[in-house]
Amino acid sequence: MGVTENYQALLARRDRVLSPSYRLFYEEPLHIVRAEGVWIYDADGRRYLDAYNNIPVAGHCHPYIVEELAKQAMLLNTHTRYLNERPVELAERLLATMPSAMGSVILTNSGSEANDLAVRISRMVTGGTGVIVTDCAYHGTSDLLQGMSPVTGLPTGPDIFTIEVPLVMRDAGEFAAIVEGALDRMREEGVKPAALLVDTIFGSDGAIAEPAGFLKGAIAAIHREGGLFIADEVQPGFGRTGAGMWGFQRHGIVPDFVTMGKPMGNGYPVASLVTRREIAEAFARRQRYFNTFGGSTVSCAAALATLDVIEREGLIENAAKTGAYLSERLQSLVDRYDVLTGLRGAGLFQGVQTRSGEIAGRIINGLRRAGVLIGGAGRGNAALKVRPPLPITPADVDLLIHSFDQVLQGEFNN
Ligand code: PMP
Repeated sequence: MGVTENYQALLARRDRVLSPSYRLFYEEPLHIVRAEGVWIYDADGRRYLDAYNNIPVAGHCHPYIVEELAKQAMLLNTHTRYLNERPVELAERLLATMPSAMGSVILTNSGSEANDLAVRISRMVTGGTGVIVTDCAYHGTSDLLQGMSPVTGLPTGPDIFTIEVPLVMRDAGEFAAIVEGALDRMREEGVKPAALLVDTIFGSDGAIAEPAGFLKGAIAAIHREGGLFIADEVQPGFGRTGAGMWGFQRHGIVPDFVTMGKPMGNGYPVASLVTRREIAEAFARRQRYFNTFGGSTVSCAAALATLDVIEREGLIENAAKTGAYLSERLQSLVDRYDVLTGLRGAGLFQGVQTRSGEIAGRIINGLRRAGVLIGGAGRGNAALKVRPPLPITPADVDLLIHSFDQVLQGEFNN
């Protein structure tokens, strides 16, 4: 791509007015102007296969979802203090996807708000303060959650205990033993546990999914000590793992809280905290909750339409089927190139382990030049995150693998 004058001018304007704390992806940032399905188009009309974005879960700019939210925006857009069908329908639809113990919904604007509230409620109802998170976790933007997001490089907050999760586990008991170790440390320091908070696909840890069921013993452990389990479904939620709507389902568990966001409105801001009825009631006895935009009529319409599309277009089945194909094809690259050392993940969330962050960076930027978008994750950013919108086809996967192969040859084998 030729670096146009407009491109440089826009970069300069952006640097002048947007906070320098924002970061653009890629050595050569992309100037994008439109998107459709799994394709993103740049200002020169070049298309890129999006194998990175989980927010447009049903495909970028899905026409039905756009139409539903536009129709609602022309009819009514208000908050949850009036009686209206939309938030009720949405709560009913969400609860219908979950174990019957989950009985109450709070709608928010972001995953951060949902996690923040889950932690706050868990501390309120348990009387504890200790929270266990993984050492590469990311859970949100608030002050509280930045202290529970060690991947940012910031120090952890008070009473936060981190655990190191092995990328490959010996057996399902290994994770429980690690959580028990953190609970022992809490006891030694005189901290009462409030919660275990994990992303159930361990996305920022580099996609840790096997063996399915490894969360079970850990939840029993936190429950034994009077704490609660928060399933952060911001990454795996809405069908990504191909094993149901939620990542926690692969582990055969019932959480105390489920938080969700990103893909929920296919790009429109809507997120949620779902909890057990008795926990919601204990919280409500102490506090009222209102969120100006959380659960707005239009955000509910976007979320309802997204659920419709996931169902009608069989996107969970596609995540399982095309995800298995993606995993098989990625494995063939891992087998052939020694810069790649492993493959993990479930459905359409795949993590390819490389030998270093430098190698991962070369692959990510090489693929971007070749017209395929992926990202990095994990310790030292050494894992590659392949996480496309769910309607990706086997032909798209073939293109991704072909480009990946060429980049690996060009970068490491010549
Ligand atoms: N939890 C996880 C696992 C996430 O990946 C993110 C966002 N990257 C969040 C929470 C925070 O969500 P939001 O950006 O919507 O506040």
